[in-house]
Amino acid sequence: MAFSEQILEEIQSKSDIAEVIGSYIPLKRAGRNFKANCPFHKEKTPSFMVSPSKQIFHCFGCGAGGNIFHFVMKFEGIEFPDAVRALAEKAGVELPRFTRSEFEQSAYAVQIYKINEFAASYYHSTLLKTEAGKRAAEYLEKRGVSEETITQAKLGFAADAWDGFINFAKSKGFETALLERSGLVISREEGGHYDRFRNKIIFPIFDIKNRVVAFGARVLDDSLPKYINSPETEVYVKSRHLYGLNFSLQAVKERDFCVIVEGYLDFLIPYQNGIKNIAASLGTSLTESQARLIKRYTRNAVILYDGDSAGEAASLRGLDLFVQEGVNVKVAVLPKGYDPDSFVRSEGTAAFNSLIDSAADLFEYKLGILTSRYDARNAAAKSRVCAEMLPTIARVNNAVLKFEYIKRLAERLQVREEDLLTELKKVKPDYTYEPSADAVAATDVCPGAKAEKILIGLMLDDAELIAEVQKHLKAEDFADEKTRKVICEIFKSYAAGKALSAAGLINCLEGDNLCSIVSEAASLTEIITDRQKNLIDCVKNIKEQNNKNKLTELRNLINVAQVMGDGKKVEQLLAELSGLLRSSKEFARR
Ligand SMILES: [Zn+2]
Repeated sequence: MAFSEQILEEIQSKSDIAEVIGSYIPLKRAGRNFKANCPFHKEKTPSFMVSPSKQIFHCFGCGAGGNIFHFVMKFEGIEFPDAVRALAEKAGVELPRFTRSEFEQSAYAVQIYKINEFAASYYHSTLLKTEAGKRAAEYLEKRGVSEETITQAKLGFAADAWDGFINFAKSKGFETALLERSGLVISREEGGHYDRFRNKIIFPIFDIKNRVVAFGARVLDDSLPKYINSPETEVYVKSRHLYGLNFSLQAVKERDFCVIVEGYLDFLIPYQNGIKNIAASLGTSLTESQARLIKRYTRNAVILYDGDSAGEAASLRGLDLFVQEGVNVKVAVLPKGYDPDSFVRSEGTAAFNSLIDSAADLFEYKLGILTSRYDARNAAAKSRVCAEMLPTIARVNNAVLKFEYIKRLAERLQVREEDLLTELKKVKPDYTYEPSADAVAATDVCPGAKAEKILIGLMLDDAELIAEVQKHLKAEDFADEKTRKVICEIFKSYAAGKALSAAGLINCLEGDNLCSIVSEAASLTEIITDRQKNLIDCVKNIKEQNNKNKLTELRNLINVAQVMGDGKKVEQLLAELSGLLRSSKEFARR
């Protein structure tokens, strides 16, 4: 984020959200708050509310929500930094001179690039010229990495020592503070510093201007974690890079598509074998920034991931982002047991290319996975498939293509196109689509979701309740993934002794539309008077849900153990089961 939390807080505190929003749409007073017809969806009765005390807005109709920055962004259709600038000017707050791109040319960034360049050379020559580097060189050879690739990608080795790099860097005049800022060395609590990377193969990560922005490091055996990375620095934001794109740019432009793989070797080995239009995401899910980066060079991407199910889930998650950015996405799946690296080595370049050529378009791929996951013959399963397909289709900008997809989906699921079009209209802009009540099966996605949100709202209203919640629940107890992220941030701030408001918390959260969870949570507690009672009710509700899930799991395990004739295991599980039953009853009585 280009702006500090402090500056955002200052702008917020000097602005009145009711005045700001009131300058765009007419607001009506409703008690302490204001209401209005939502400007982001069509409605006749107001479900849009503005809370001056919490400095947030939320629409219960379409789920839009956030603080003043998000309102201006959304209403004017501008980017976050522009909204901040506009509101800062209105509030008379002077912004710091540096934006991110200006900062990249600032003194610090220049120094960090220099250190990274220096470190890459140091690790590279450790690999090639020292006794310690031999093991790493042997490892790379065994993995099929050629000498030419080692040179081009400037692969290196960090020796098994705590101070190899730092001592060398200091002897060349680099300051410790700067080395720490680059993430290559870490400070000890008791004083002094040590090398971040030890006994690891080093992969320098370049930006598209061929500057070293960070490092990835891999162990030489099977120990865990397999990979560690540089932390984010002035010159490195992880989600913004694609590994290897600096090498493949030209080919990506020429062939007008980019193959996207996951890891360093998934990139290096195919690249070395002639697949030149390729880049690696270096993460399990793709990000919006990566989609924008690709889009500068081509509108076509083929995602190639491992055949295991983790890869499947990961590729599904990032794909919608690409669609939204207007990138055409195809998906190629490797045979089970292969990754791109091992596949190209054992099957060859031609086989790799034909796998890429046979990639399925995103629609077919996703539908295939969903229908096999849900057995789409009964109505409930069909509505689940729809619930996951429609958000993807909603993101397709081309209207003709969008309708084509609806037609295909209707055909495949044997439902009426009109019904799908009606459901498509309900897909919320914030992507939390839920199919209409009559279409949903008895099992809801996350029954405790509302209780979880109310708890968030309560903790933001009164920080003393955070300790109360922590007495009963851990972050893992929250079932909804996005809610859990918000909870973690609240717990983190609380542990750091930082005061939190709803509007402030939103500034700390990035991506995933977490801000509308916060605005909803904050709005939900507006009508609550007895906080203590509500807190206990919500905790109970969440515990009950979790217990229910655990009980089902335990009962399944007991069945399995019985079938297997494992008496000891059955006994142990039964004991666990009765313990669980007892503790859930105890809590229910409170
Ligand atoms: Zn709305």
